[in-house]
Amino acid sequence: MEKIKMTTPLVEMDGDEMTRILWAMIKEELLLPFIDLKTEYYDLGLECRNETNDQVTIDSANATKKYGVAVKCATITPNGARMDEYKLKEMWKSPNGTIRAMLDGTVFRSPIVVKGIEPCVKNWKKPITIARHAYGDVYKATEMKIPAAGKVELVYTPENGKEERELIHNFTGAGVVQGQHNLEDSIESFARSCFTYALDVKQDLWFATKDTISKKYDHTFKDIFQEIFDKDYKDAFEKAGITYFYTLIDDAVARVMKSEGGYIWACKNYDGDVMSDMISSAFGSLAMMTSVLVSPQGYYEYEAAHGTVQRHYYKHLKGEETSTNSVATIFAWSGALRKRGELDKLPKLMEFADKLEHACIKTIEEGKMTKDLALITSLKNPTVLNSKGFILEIRKTLEESLS
Ligand code: NAP
Ligand code: MG
Repeated sequence: MEKIKMTTPLVEMDGDEMTRILWAMIKEELLLPFIDLKTEYYDLGLECRNETNDQVTIDSANATKKYGVAVKCATITPNGARMDEYKLKEMWKSPNGTIRAMLDGTVFRSPIVVKGIEPCVKNWKKPITIARHAYGDVYKATEMKIPAAGKVELVYTPENGKEERELIHNFTGAGVVQGQHNLEDSIESFARSCFTYALDVKQDLWFATKDTISKKYDHTFKDIFQEIFDKDYKDAFEKAGITYFYTLIDDAVARVMKSEGGYIWACKNYDGDVMSDMISSAFGSLAMMTSVLVSPQGYYEYEAAHGTVQRHYYKHLKGEETSTNSVATIFAWSGALRKRGELDKLPKLMEFADKLEHACIKTIEEGKMTKDLALITSLKNPTVLNSKGFILEIRKTLEESLS
């Protein structure tokens, strides 16, 4: 069989530990035999980040701006223990944080739905994708403990103008206060990433805040989304047959529970933090969550939502067998290949991405899976495979569908 051609390289960001092992297996067994794979390779493994003073992370983000599509392996975010383990020169920042800041992007997380791994919520038939705004609010708040009676105000001092004050509270005893902020630019980027992504996957977009109570703060989010939608996306949404829907956060939560899924739910920073954990655990497994960073300009970086699976890696190093689920990492590759195919008008590459995903799903639905899924499946007597064995089964299924 002739290998599928690519025209533009994908930005390939390699990573750490067990996911780095899976990365190499996926390329060897599921990609290189079928595709004339073109990538521009960046090693974001911690050793190389340390050697390059983290320049490699910056270079990989710049390459993503140049080519438009990247695929990333999970990476270690250093902490004290990693400083010793890898003899680091510095406690390098999280690569995801660095890349997200450089692309000004929003992260969309969606569960991979298969028969036999049923969501806790019976009526959820299709994935629910969470888009979390990643700047400001309570994550960049300033707080004070108020020891005793006194007046607390918000003060705004313009660079050249008259000071403005707003009373927070006249305390008659001890209490607490918190000051939060956000930026119009950041909210606008968030809105554009959400509209871009909704059009991309042709799914409805929901957005919700507490604007009835927070009449200035949350209302600004609502207004910015609406203005940008009306100005730049309304017609495209109509053409694509999808809708933008705004509601109150409480109403959204009630509707989500009763829905069948199949839409994107845009959340403010805190709501997204909380709701993404709820959605991922209700859908079954972190190992079955994909994640894509979308910039307002339409640059894409695909990855798995889980980490480097450190515990399995240490077993692997000791020569013990592992049963690590590679599905989310495979879907990162298929997502990136499909996007590359779409941008470069390569239908064969897009078709391959579909078939690769389908092969993963079919393999699991036939009862062949890794241990994490075997523990939660409703299928009777699943076959538990090791990390490599599972990938080889997916390869068999893929070869059948390609021939
Ligand atoms: P983790 O790698 O997501 O793993 C936590 C646990 O979840 C594992 O020990 C395993 O449970 C289970 N698990 C996760 N993915 C799995 C998979 N594909 N197959 C089977 N089981 C899976 O989180 P962590 O151990 O807290 O973090 C390890 C490293 O990853 C850290 O250095 C952290 O900085 C990094 N991290 C990176 C990213 C990223 O690059 N996007 C995200 C999160 C964390 P059992 O051990 O019970 O089998
Ligand atoms: Mg959380």
